[in-house]
Amino acid sequence: MTESPTTPMFNEVSQQMYPLSTLYVVATPIGNLGDITLRALHLLGLADAIACEDTRNTAQLMTRYGLSKPLIAAHQHNEREVADKLIARLQAGERIALVSDAGTPAISDPGARIVEAVRAAGLRVLPLPGPSALITALSASGLQDAHFYFAGFLPAKGKQRDTVLAGLRGVAATLVFYEAPHRIVDAVAALTAAFEPTRQIVFARELTKLFEEIHRCDLADAAAWVAADAHREKGEYVVLLQGAPTAIAADDVEADRVLRILMAECSVKQAAALAAQLTGQKKNALYERALLLKADLKAPLD
Ligand code: SAM
Repeated sequence: MTESPTTPMFNEVSQQMYPLSTLYVVATPIGNLGDITLRALHLLGLADAIACEDTRNTAQLMTRYGLSKPLIAAHQHNEREVADKLIARLQAGERIALVSDAGTPAISDPGARIVEAVRAAGLRVLPLPGPSALITALSASGLQDAHFYFAGFLPAKGKQRDTVLAGLRGVAATLVFYEAPHRIVDAVAALTAAFEPTRQIVFARELTKLFEEIHRCDLADAAAWVAADAHREKGEYVVLLQGAPTAIAADDVEADRVLRILMAECSVKQAAALAAQLTGQKKNALYERALLLKADLKAPLD
């Protein structure tokens, strides 16, 4: 029999320290079951019990890895009560794993309250890092803002959603949203209404799964992309939006000169895109500047 290439490392991992009386926060795959770490696999096999968002989902996951453990339901409606029970078990010396349905617990998922309570009780919490949809999506987005802002799920109600988006307009960092498939059309409409049409948007759909799609386009073209295929109203999404443009300096004479010449010949959007190529400045910042110049009818052409 050929030895699996991971075996020596798995043996090493299984000999590492896994202290008793500890809550282990364990990330699990977001689609592809191969995306589990060796430490996570070992710990799930070692734990005395697993606290999980949905016992049916975790039971299935454990079966796929050939594991079986007592499962404790720990969802958003019982986190406080279950924390007390987990603390008693940890104080009795157990190792307990905390998992969510997919990805990293406590990231738009239950878990934070339990972690807080366990830490407040003076017990140890050890994270076992692994998949998270937001980091996976960011890594493949190609967006180059130096920072990102994780906005999680947008409110379902239109008015509240618009208020949240208005508050994000000036954030000069990639905006990252989680979105449910049945709300993707509404969410894109709200984003389109709230932000400049030249901002880049990235749809990261069904990451690590069979029908994974990662699509990047101008926000102006986003609704058409979603509408182009009925499957796009299904599946899980991370939506990333390029951050607010960093302003063009008011005394950037060269940028203004190029924009004025181009705007005499083409639309503001085209002028901004061409000016970005000519000046090396950010397209969004030039678009903002072009709108200002356009509004300033008295601005002379030098
Ligand atoms: N805690 C999880 C994590 O770390 O990624 C996120 C849990 S949250 C309840 C579920 C949301 O994550 C989905 O609605 C979707 O926005 C995003 N998501 C999870 N898996 C995904 C995948 N495979 N592809 C794209 N988005 C995903």
